[in-house]
Amino acid sequence: MDARSTVRTVLLRALSVFAVFLFWNGVSGIAAAEDILNPPALCHSTSETVKEPRAVPPRFTCKGDPQGYQYGSLWLRADLRNYRGVDPNDLVLKVHSSRFDRLEVAFTYADGHTTYQHVRSGDFGTHWRTGGQIAFEAPVREAPVRFVTARFDRLASVHLLRMRMLSRGEANLQATALSICVTAALTLLLLGTVYNTSLAVTLRRQFPVWQAGWAGSVLLWGIVWSQLGLLVVPEMAGTFSSQFCTALSCLAVTFASFSAITALDGPELPRPLRWFTLGLAVFISFLGIPLALMRSGAIDAAALALGVAILTLLASVALSLGWAWRRGSIEARTFSGAWSIPILTLGGVEFFDTRTIFWGGGSQLLILLAAAWQTIWLAVAASKTHAYLRIEHDRARQAAAQAHELARRDPLTGLRNRRGFVEAVAPMLELAQSGESPAALLLLDVDMFKRINDTHGHDAGDMVLATIAHRIERWEGPMCKVARLGGEEFALMTGGMTGFALEQFAESVRLGIAACDHSEAIGADTVTVSVGIAEAGPDSHFRELYRLADEALYRAKHLGRNRVMFQQPSHDPRIVDGIQVNTLQ
Ligand code: GH3
Ligand code: MG
Ligand code: MG
Repeated sequence: MDARSTVRTVLLRALSVFAVFLFWNGVSGIAAAEDILNPPALCHSTSETVKEPRAVPPRFTCKGDPQGYQYGSLWLRADLRNYRGVDPNDLVLKVHSSRFDRLEVAFTYADGHTTYQHVRSGDFGTHWRTGGQIAFEAPVREAPVRFVTARFDRLASVHLLRMRMLSRGEANLQATALSICVTAALTLLLLGTVYNTSLAVTLRRQFPVWQAGWAGSVLLWGIVWSQLGLLVVPEMAGTFSSQFCTALSCLAVTFASFSAITALDGPELPRPLRWFTLGLAVFISFLGIPLALMRSGAIDAAALALGVAILTLLASVALSLGWAWRRGSIEARTFSGAWSIPILTLGGVEFFDTRTIFWGGGSQLLILLAAAWQTIWLAVAASKTHAYLRIEHDRARQAAAQAHELARRDPLTGLRNRRGFVEAVAPMLELAQSGESPAALLLLDVDMFKRINDTHGHDAGDMVLATIAHRIERWEGPMCKVARLGGEEFALMTGGMTGFALEQFAESVRLGIAACDHSEAIGADTVTVSVGIAEAGPDSHFRELYRLADEALYRAKHLGRNRVMFQQPSHDPRIVDGIQVNTLQ
């Protein structure tokens, strides 16, 4: 097993252990925490808003739903004798943050003593806990607690209210587990936001922008909902946070839908489906504004409308993904994997009562975890695509470099061709032009090559050319570039040599080639070359140099072949009529 698969196995095992731990704690959370809103244990009463603290509660009734509390005070009272599984000597009341002005909790003991604690919107004091909860601990006394009375002033909706009673140990354990989960999910979302923003910049595509918007708004929502934001702005506690969360969650749903729809590549979605989905997504954001501002009235009806709209939107996004998948969209496959969990979670919390699971984190924690999951999935998928594009890009660059090199090489001999040669000698010519270092062009042409072809065949001719090229290659170096210019014509550009040294070098080239063994191709026949030399002056360009070397070569042929001829500017005293016959011949 290689290192990568070992790491993968370890990670998978760690994840499964974590998942089992989450599940177990979530399920045991359901069993341990009593939702005290369940009748008949809870009795209620409503009154005008009570101004003074520690007011005497009015008469309670244990039947029906409380009415008319939105503009006054709602009193809820739990008689602990009706709760099995709750220890009246070790008691914590946990209330989930909701929209109200003030909440006062009274613990009444069997000996008639009552203790009071309160929070108000904008000041939760030391009562707030991570995971959007407010905790009230019953002080320990000799006598057990008999009644727990909670008084909400200007509560928005009793149906959005969640309260649980549990022991101190459970409460602390749950608070710790919830903090770990929330922090982990928020960290992942933060990474997702940053990653998707950078991806949007590098890929220059629209969907990572929406994706970053979704991850960012869920991140902000998570900070506010979990109340971690109270560490920085404690005044946000209560109603403001709750209203802000409603608006943010609607905005997040809009971003998420835009991200999914704009990411689908390949075949276009049917227009009506596309526009319906996007339109509904925008509508949900607008619906979120009045719902966020509402403190009373038809808040339950508006929440129901929002729930229906979100479910319709989820179905529409799922339909779009399915449609694109069937039409072969790769993005749809990636997105379906990423979005399935948030879609199922968002849809599921509308149908199932998830209020008390996950240590009271409930549906919000589920959504936070689902969003974190989706962010990881998409980040991994995007990284894979990115890596794939990178490999493709590297391959394309490699192929381009190869094509570039091939265009400059002669296929028969592997030497540079004329194009490659002109490019390779350009720096040497520049040095010669500036007078820093001399340069000279040696033009070589195989003598009577046509006869070799005619006598031994074209293949044998090719072998001869390859052998000569192999020999010529040995002179290749920083101060000498070699090439096959075409047919049976070769070239060498030398640097740093003039006059006698150059002449001797050219002669050694001629003799070196003449000494090549061609027995395999042409038996005992010999092969010679004629050489024309031109030295670069301050103004000479390749074309001019070539013309001069060719002239010298022509004369070498004319004078009987297998010799070196010099072509120099006529002012050179060694030259008679511009041509000098090699004295070493
Ligand atoms: P000279 O000494 O005057 O240069 O005589 P030559 O026969 O070498 O010159 P000529 O230009 O008449 O013939 C050159 C021959 O080279 C003609 C052509 O068929 C042959 N040739 C050109 N390129 C190739 C090649 O790639 N392979 C082979 N086998 N022959 C080639
Ligand atoms: Mg020729
Ligand atoms: Mg020839």
